[in-house]
Amino acid sequence: MDLQFEETARRGAVATLIIHRTDLASYGWDVVRNSWGTERSYLKRDETPKLQAASWIQVDVAKRIMGLIGLDLDKLFQRAQMKDFKPLQLPIRLKAHVASQLKPFLSRNVLAMLPGTDAVLGKEAVLYTAHYDHLGIDPSLPGDKIYNGANDNATGCGILLELARVWAAMPVAAPRSILFASVTAEEQGLLGSEYLGKHSPVPPGKIMVDLNFDDVPPLGTPEEVEVSGAERTTFYPVVQATAQDFHLAIRPDSRPEAGHYYRSDHFSLARVGVPSFSINEGIKYAGHLPEWGDEQAKDFTAHRYHQPSDEYSPDMDFTGDAVIARFGFVLGMKAAWLPTLAGWIPGDEFEAARKKSQARSPIGSHLFDDLPLLHLVAYEPLHYPPLAGQTRITGTVKLHVVIEKTGAVGEVSILSGHPLLSGAAQSSVRSWKFETIATGPADFELTYEFELRDKASEHADEEITFDTPNHVRIVSNPPIIYTNYAQPTGRPGD
Ligand SMILES: [Zn+2]
Repeated sequence: MDLQFEETARRGAVATLIIHRTDLASYGWDVVRNSWGTERSYLKRDETPKLQAASWIQVDVAKRIMGLIGLDLDKLFQRAQMKDFKPLQLPIRLKAHVASQLKPFLSRNVLAMLPGTDAVLGKEAVLYTAHYDHLGIDPSLPGDKIYNGANDNATGCGILLELARVWAAMPVAAPRSILFASVTAEEQGLLGSEYLGKHSPVPPGKIMVDLNFDDVPPLGTPEEVEVSGAERTTFYPVVQATAQDFHLAIRPDSRPEAGHYYRSDHFSLARVGVPSFSINEGIKYAGHLPEWGDEQAKDFTAHRYHQPSDEYSPDMDFTGDAVIARFGFVLGMKAAWLPTLAGWIPGDEFEAARKKSQARSPIGSHLFDDLPLLHLVAYEPLHYPPLAGQTRITGTVKLHVVIEKTGAVGEVSILSGHPLLSGAAQSSVRSWKFETIATGPADFELTYEFELRDKASEHADEEITFDTPNHVRIVSNPPIIYTNYAQPTGRPGD
């Protein structure tokens, strides 16, 4: 998985070998070989840390290597599950010669947007995604050399196109915009969706939810829907109610440890904070036992998954794909009309990314909605002034701001507010830079709201929002103040 390579690179590794275990990966070595043993693609000009060498290794080979130095790999695996596991330095040197040929390569995400009708909500979007790539053509294969990807992911592409058609044909447009993204290079490690997450035309903090479709098997009428990850979002009650309307049972992820959530495009969006999940059928189909569905899935994995044999056959029954498309349509409708944006439930691993993306920047926010001639291009982040936080000072600051024709900030005068707060607001505005204004200088009033939560916290957990024109809201936790000089008890003395 690319993510593991990315993480080890971030931690300073020069090279990483991932030991393949079929039981953990839930796919065989041939899948690893087909996916990794060929040309690989990476995002260009990407600042993500990179390894000098990255590879997978078969578990038997790893066992043999460990055996050479008297170590038992199974025991090491067990120990690695323990919290107190420390990496071992092995007396082994790997000498490898990797000859790489680099080739610049262009592939595109294909996007379409149906603009929302509401002046404020229209800047937000409901996102639909489905990857359109597969593994291409392999001339070295005997017989059929073409990876068609009929299930994976022509089914998802079909659903996406149908959703776009139906949305565009709606007599009443939604208040929120609807964004359709047919993303590339999913099979290369979710690259197209990663790029989308980093360069979305609607900032991630304004994307209500991403509904992804990947490999929706054409097996007949489903009685279950799989929406793994949805239960981690505040959108879940809507999903539950919709599933009930569709007479679909929600099938829980049978093996969360297999990490399926991290293996399709919705994950790229989750990483930038967007509540995201894939919508698929479960294993129970009308007229069949669940075992039948399970059998079909296993048969597909063994004989067609990531192979040229994943191709169209006339006996495919797309009833279920239509059900999933309608289900996605209704979910999208509800998402487009809900008054507030969805988020992650408190404590979820993606909650921080959501908060960060929503606080990140006044650029592209609603801050200048009333001033359409002003285009902010640079700013420095504002923080709750520490001294004001410690002394529990809160309140409103009003500024009068003049922007010169050049786009530079001219005079910033304080109309009202506590000096500690107004000083911070004033110096923040002075860091702004706008595009040249064709019509000459502009001026406006700006309100800053400084709020402290009731509970003190050791972590600076700040939220800045720019959701209303000419209005900045900054909410922080007051710091814990220890009133005795001794080391507080129950706290490690670091
Ligand atoms: Zn796929």
